[in-house]
Formats: sequence, structure tokens, C-alpha cells
Amino acid sequence: MKLRFESSVEEFRQEFLAWLADNRPTAEEMAADPAVSSAHCPEWAKRWTKRLFDAGWLVPGWPPERGGRNAGAHETLVYLEEMSRSGVPRTTNPQGLGIVVPSLLDYGTPDQIERYAMPLLHGEITACLGMSEPDAGSDLANLKTRAVRDGDTFVLNGQKVWTSGANYADFCFLFCRTDPDVPKHKGISIILLPMDTPGVTVRPLNEIVHPQHPDLNEVFLTDVVVPAANLVGKLNDGWAMANGSLAHERGMVWLMSVIDMEMGMQQMLELAPSILEALPEQERAVAADDVVRCYIESHAVRCLGYRGFARLVKGGSAPEQALMKLFASASRQRLARVAAEMRGPDALESKPQRSRRVGTLEDYFGIFGSTISAGSSEIQRNIIAEKVLGLPRG
Ligand SMILES: Cc1cc2nc3c(=O)[nH]c(=O)nc-3n(C[C@H](O)[C@H](O)[C@H](O)COP(=O)(O)OP(=O)(O)OC[C@H]3O[C@@H](n4cnc5c(N)ncnc54)[C@H](O)[C@@H]3O)c2cc1C
Repeated sequence: MKLRFESSVEEFRQEFLAWLADNRPTAEEMAADPAVSSAHCPEWAKRWTKRLFDAGWLVPGWPPERGGRNAGAHETLVYLEEMSRSGVPRTTNPQGLGIVVPSLLDYGTPDQIERYAMPLLHGEITACLGMSEPDAGSDLANLKTRAVRDGDTFVLNGQKVWTSGANYADFCFLFCRTDPDVPKHKGISIILLPMDTPGVTVRPLNEIVHPQHPDLNEVFLTDVVVPAANLVGKLNDGWAMANGSLAHERGMVWLMSVIDMEMGMQQMLELAPSILEALPEQERAVAADDVVRCYIESHAVRCLGYRGFARLVKGGSAPEQALMKLFASASRQRLARVAAEMRGPDALESKPQRSRRVGTLEDYFGIFGSTISAGSSEIQRNIIAEKVLGLPRG
């Protein structure tokens, strides 16, 4: 079976590729000032974001005034494929562009869109996502960070953890408790928190992957005062909005999984022949078997992704998202292990760039978080059990 896109979609792909060839940042530019955290936007990345926005290639599915060209779903898919294959990051602030901005466009006031969403789309500022807390990860509704109304302001106290890019972000899309006296899902709100507000302390966490460039942070809030106008959507309506925000995240993770796996496999196929050639015969057979397994899994991820995508385009729900997240993240971890083992000591090279290459220790350690972030594998299994298989809640 050979899957093909319609010719108009292929024309769209060619149009983007031609533009990309003329406008992409150079490898030298990116290497000289690498993006070292998920909300770090070096000068070249600012220029690149603005260029994408002006040309309607930042979010092709959106209207031109928001950085797009009203492209359809298939066009957006091939755009994302080609962008990932190019090796140029579409954004150096994935949470900002992929979750915070779409959520603000859905629920924010015109002023919030003007002050936060549009500057982010122009590459002028970046955002982080403040959901998780020490006792609220999988069970997000358990969050305890308090926001208390005081006249025209909210006063914030509490702690977030695992906040990607908080050490570089200009503002945080902060989930907090605004009513502690109602069932826990009902008293949550979202507030925009400028990170330079007095009382905000960001403490980067030690990371095995980039000890010199941490990305994950603890964020402590002590009597932090923000204008009441920074409330996103309705008071105490944060849970419904969280599901909207997470849907953006899940959609993004799902598409990126297909592409990440395919690119990883491509890199593996570049590495494998010469390494296999040099191995003793018996070891070669075992290693070749591992490579073939990864290859089969990369195709399975792609087919699963296309099937889920086809359902979403037709307006159906996509239980494949949970299957996809579970299978793709585990497969990608296996690929990282096989590639690192094949390269042996050469895998110890280390680079600060966040774009990883398989067969490096950076990739091997970096990919571990993928079975935890955006919903752990255990949570995906719960979703599959309950929503796909219809089993009773455990
Ligand atoms: C790389 C990375 C980036 C992240 N970035 C951000 C970010 O930018 N912003 C943010 O807010 N958060 C972020 N997170 C946090 C992430 O959302 C949480 O780690 C995740 O939701 C899991 O929560 P937890 O770590 O508190 O683990 P817990 O929820 O405490 O889970 C611990 C273990 O118990 C299992 N478990 C929990 N509940 C159940 C259940 N009901 N059934 C079965 N098993 C269960 C889990 O699967 C896990 O194995 C990031 C995490 C990682 C790894």
C-alpha cells in the first residue's frame, strides 16, 4: 500500500520547501548562539520567528494576521513534516507557540492577545506553562498554588515544579486555586504571570542532560501581586480550559511523535551500515535485528499517526492519541538506546543544542522524559483501558 497526498497538497509542500531554502537560518547562525532552553529565544530565533510570521509560515492553519495562510489540515501536516525534516526548529518555545498562544486565542481577552499572544507570535517574548506542583502532576486538579483576590489584583503564593523554560520565559501561563472550598476541579483559574514580578523565584533543577544549561525549574511564588485583568477566561473555569490547553498539547505531541521517530530512524540508518560492518558476525546479527525492530516500529508509529489524523480531520475523536503517545514514546526510547549502544564510547559527545541526534548520550538521556511529560505511560494506559476498551475505572 502506498499512501499519497493529493497533488494540491504536494504543491503546497513544494511552495514551502522553496521558501524554506531561501529563508532558513544558517547552521552557523544556530551553532553560534544555540537555544539552550525551551523558552530561550536567541537573536537568530527572534528573526526567524518574525520571518515565518510575516510569510504566513508560522502557523499555516491560522489566518494571515496571526502568522498563517488559512491552510487546511493536510497542508499543515506536510508543512510540519518538512519543517521537522529540515533540522531547523520551527520555534525555540514549543510550550509558548503550541499551548499558551492557542489557549490565549481561545480564552484570552483582546488585551491579553495583544500584550502576550501577538508578541510571542512575533518572536519578541516567550512563555512557560505552570501546571505541575510537588503534589499535582498526573492529578493536576490537586494543585495548591493560591490566588487570592485583593481589589484590582490577585496575590499569588505557592510552588510550581518541572516548569520547562521558566528560567528564560517572559511570562507564565499559571494554573492556580482561586476557590479552596469547592470540589477540587471547580476552584482552579489561569492567570498570566510576568516572570519579573517581585516575589517570583526561579530555581533551575540539576539535569543529567544539560548540567550547564538546565531547562526544568522550580518556581516559588511569595506574595506575588498581579493585576486582576491577568485572569484568563472565567474565574474558577480553569479545569475546562486546562483540558483545552492539554488538547493543544496532546495534538502537538502526537504529530511531533511521528516526525521525531521518523527523523530518529533516518539518523539511525545513516549511522548503522558502517557500525554494523565493523562488528564481529554474531554481534552484527543481534545489532541488525535491533535496527530492524526500530525500523518496523517507526512505520507502525507513522501508520498509527496517519490513522488518528484521518479521524481527527473527519471530526471524530482520536483514542489513537493515547495509543500513539504510549507506543511512540517507548519506541523512541528504544531507538535512542539501540543507537547509543551501537556507537559505544562515541555516544559520549555532548552538545548544548536542544535538537538532538540519535546515538548521543544527550539523546539517550533526553528522551527519558517523553514517557512522563504530557501524560505518563501509566496514565495513557488508564485512558486506553477506560475510553478505548470501555473497562471500569480502576
Ligand atoms: C521533560 C519534562 C518536561 C515537563 N515540562 C512541564 C512544564 O513545562 N510545565 C508543567 O507544568 N509540567 C511539566 N512537566 C511535568 C509533567 O507534566 C509531570 O511530570 C507529569 O504530569 C507527571 O507528574 P509527576 O511528575 O508529578 O508524577 P506523579 O503524577 O506523581 O506520578 C508518579 C508515578 O505514578 C504514576 N501514576 C500517577 N497517577 C497514576 C494513576 N492514576 N494510575 C496509574 N499510575 C499513576 C505515574 O505514571 C508515575 O509513574 C514536565 C515533565 C517532564 C518529564
